[in-house]
Amino acid sequence: MGRKFFVGGNWKCNGTSEDVKKIVATLNAGQLPSTDIVEVVVSPPFVFLTSVKSELRPEIQVAAQNCWVKKGGAFTGEVSAEMLANLCIPWVILGHSERRALLNETNEFVGDKVAYALSQGLKVIACVGETLEQREAGTTMEVVAAQTKAIADKISSWDNVVLAYEPVWAIGTGKVASPAQAQEVHAGLRKWFQENISAEVAATTRIIYGGSVSGSNCKELAGQTDVDGFLVGGASLKPEFIDIIKAAEVKKA
Ligand code: PEP
Repeated sequence: MGRKFFVGGNWKCNGTSEDVKKIVATLNAGQLPSTDIVEVVVSPPFVFLTSVKSELRPEIQVAAQNCWVKKGGAFTGEVSAEMLANLCIPWVILGHSERRALLNETNEFVGDKVAYALSQGLKVIACVGETLEQREAGTTMEVVAAQTKAIADKISSWDNVVLAYEPVWAIGTGKVASPAQAQEVHAGLRKWFQENISAEVAATTRIIYGGSVSGSNCKELAGQTDVDGFLVGGASLKPEFIDIIKAAEVKKA
């Protein structure tokens, strides 16, 4: 079975309720490829999650941008995986580089979070990616393999995980990875799955690219063999997100 193209929109910590209404209206009015060829998930801030979920057309799903590492309780300010499951929020983004860098989330902590979220029935968009210094030092594959291994060590199935390769130097910078750079790392991650998990996981796990994806660069990136979709930040707040979703048609062709 082929890997269905996956497009995630990470709205990060942006937007007023008016902004959110406009984005939802744009998404609801957009002409999208069929759900047979693309899975679309948008990730509003927690406070807007349930209203976006109820107002969005049913073929677009929602994701939280984070959740707590274990069962809820005395953890002020956190949101637990059980709460997301209770509200029928199907997806959660974990290990985003902004949280790794700004909130000191370690590889192990991210692995624990992924495992706990999966145990509660959530699906996970798990993010990995190297900094510019790590790329320039030639350690890109080592870094993303260690981040992926820290997740693999804690989980028994990759069925409900989408792996997002997001080079830190490309996030929010306008400096997109070249299609060849993206393909090289995606192929490297697939090889890592093949050698360390199984041929089946390597063949079926979706590896999506994130980092300054836009309406103008998405088609070329989507044309790469091992690029199974995108995680989009800035452009997911704009009408061009519809064009990015349509890049799924490149695969179909
Ligand atoms: C992201 O935050 O996941 C991301 C890829 O951001 P941007 O598209 O803005 O680079």
